Amino acid sequence: MRLIVTEKDSAARKIADILGGKVTVKAHGRGRQKVRSYHFGYGDDDAVAIGLRGHVMQTVFPNTYRRWSLKYLGDMIERPDLAWVVDGAAAGTLAALRSVAKGATEVVIATDYDREGELIGHEALEILRGDALKRHPHDKPEKKKKAGVAGRGKAAAAPPAEPPADSGDPHVKAMLPAAAVDRHIRVRYSALTREEVEAAFAKPSTVDFNLAEAAHSRQDIDLIWGAVLTRFMSLASYRYGSDYLSVGRVQSPTLRLVVDRELERRAFVPVPYWEIKATLTRGDDTVEVAHAKGRFDSLEAMETAFSRAQADTAEVTAYKAEPRKVAPPPPFNTTALMSAASGGGVSPARAMRAAESLYLDGLISYPRTDNTVYPPSLDLRGSLEALAGWQPVATVAARLAKQGKYTPTRGKKRTTDHPPIYPVGVPKKELSGDQAKVYDLVARRFLATLLPAAVIEGQRVDVRIGREPFLARGSRVASPGFLEVYEKYAAKRDRPLPALQPGDVLQVRELRSESKETQPPSRYGQGPLIEKMEELGLGTKATRADIIQHLYDRNYVRDNPIEPTELGVALITAFDAAMKEAPVDISSWQMTAKLDDEMDRISEGELRRDQVVAESQDMLEQAWKLLDGHVADIRERIKGGVRDDLTLGECKNCGGQLRVLRGKTGKRFAACVGKEGDAPQPAADGERPRRGCGQTFPLPQRGTITPTGRSCGDCGWPEIKVVGAGGRGRPWVLCVDIDCPSKEKYRSRARKNA
Ligand SMILES: [Zn+2]
Ligand SMILES: [Zn+2]
Repeated sequence: MRLIVTEKDSAARKIADILGGKVTVKAHGRGRQKVRSYHFGYGDDDAVAIGLRGHVMQTVFPNTYRRWSLKYLGDMIERPDLAWVVDGAAAGTLAALRSVAKGATEVVIATDYDREGELIGHEALEILRGDALKRHPHDKPEKKKKAGVAGRGKAAAAPPAEPPADSGDPHVKAMLPAAAVDRHIRVRYSALTREEVEAAFAKPSTVDFNLAEAAHSRQDIDLIWGAVLTRFMSLASYRYGSDYLSVGRVQSPTLRLVVDRELERRAFVPVPYWEIKATLTRGDDTVEVAHAKGRFDSLEAMETAFSRAQADTAEVTAYKAEPRKVAPPPPFNTTALMSAASGGGVSPARAMRAAESLYLDGLISYPRTDNTVYPPSLDLRGSLEALAGWQPVATVAARLAKQGKYTPTRGKKRTTDHPPIYPVGVPKKELSGDQAKVYDLVARRFLATLLPAAVIEGQRVDVRIGREPFLARGSRVASPGFLEVYEKYAAKRDRPLPALQPGDVLQVRELRSESKETQPPSRYGQGPLIEKMEELGLGTKATRADIIQHLYDRNYVRDNPIEPTELGVALITAFDAAMKEAPVDISSWQMTAKLDDEMDRISEGELRRDQVVAESQDMLEQAWKLLDGHVADIRERIKGGVRDDLTLGECKNCGGQLRVLRGKTGKRFAACVGKEGDAPQPAADGERPRRGCGQTFPLPQRGTITPTGRSCGDCGWPEIKVVGAGGRGRPWVLCVDIDCPSKEKYRSRARKNA
């Protein structure tokens, strides 16, 4: 019998459907631990496919480091004593694997085709062979459970409950003879389609242990860095429990990008400038022109030009129209897809989830890829023929499918593991939500890469008003090319000027000057941030979206475009103050990119995991010593950041500060806490003395509340902004005063403006 192990249940089901004629489904365990296996005949043998739940092993510290204390941090860095053990949460999956593995003569690893997939395959082999540890070897074995005692309080840290009583041997009992496991085969496919899966099974290879080792190193290093720095920052600033300050090897440099941009904005000094514009008409045509000089740096220069441009008519002095080609975009890799999706209102994290489910449904190819060049073996025609059955692009796809040969666009990155993301099937029923948006994007992008360039006619008209030169630019789509399917995702290009020739005369309807200021650099949107991360080598295609999401979840950033909270700013500036003397700042992207580069070298077999982990321990130790010398400063900064995030504005009654507080039940509300440094007010007998004037307001219980810095035009109380989790939804600006006369008006206006 063949045992086929996949990374997820849906992939196991899909492979069984593709390879087997008739599939029998068996359920193991119940509730959330329920696992399914898929049994079928394969050739003249039997086969069973079973899906894991992603990683089934994890890197852990020994239990001696479980307590959070600054005292242990040095030990954790110097002697992390990591062990690779079975993940306790995977007990149900392992029990199911044990039961279906019985009697297997051949093991097929069919996990996802990437670094993490290779490690998960390695994990499965360790477990099947009986080499995996079920607990840290330096931890005491779990005591025999007494009947009726539920001992799973600390579920995450508890060793796996398999087998029930620990006999003293820390190894999981073997599920198959070692010889059978060592004969394993590895199949690699980039899409869950019949062609790909059958081709993969026809051309098996073995697990790439170097690649798995690279993923394993990343796990180890991330655990040490994350645990040490998170504990240090949290303990230094007295933030315990759910308020802990999460610090991560890739997360902090990403936060730094956002914070650095914000600090640049704060330091920015706007410079005033002026522009002169005019509205011209001829018959029904209107043209907006601007002074050919563009910006005037001084008011006098502008006023001089303005007075020289006093005239009722304008004369066309030149008209130019030049066609230029706009090339279709390159094929999608993960970053480009996430960036394009976020331009369409789907955050990178949501786009990635939608893309994964489209992949598991056999609709698109594997969505984690860096590649932007279609391999020659790719069946472009097959995908086109399939897309001809999908109504929104059916005509174009059918026309392309009949074409003799294709010259698809090529991007800059070429890798050989996966093809770029392209559609491999069409939805049988209508998709909805993010899935519909992402599928539409992938399908149209794919067609766009096979269509010709668009021809855009760039237009420029020069006119003279009085004694001054003005001009306007326009554009016209002369030949749509790829825009036939991709216009909705491309920059808008059809803004034609009316047909004009030199000598034409137009009426000047209006001549006006506009006073403006130079603008600070803009904040990162989620799409551009993910592109920046790729450019700097921060994170991987598999982790970038989650890292950004985590910044939102930890309250370090809010909104989209992304704005750091004061807590986020404090965290980075505290690092900077402590790291001034450090050779390399551990929260810099260079540091992270270096480690990621070393992981690539592990996968090439040039470096070993222990070397890279040891090197990162040294860097961490240096950093920790510097941080430790700045504990008081870090504490002050973090406290200040938190306080600023919670301060909504000035109390109208007493001039004190209106701040977000939490009641005993956890409900939040706004209350006046008086002025900074005020002594508590005397209170009646039996009451606690309080600060401030006693004014309180209820607050929305969901979403992130931030001060806008403005006060309500109707009642004078501060205005606040409420944003949904993860920068989702439309921000809602409202007056904090529940009884404000303008409440309804504000709500509807906020909705319209957002
Ligand atoms: Zn007050
Ligand atoms: Zn108000």
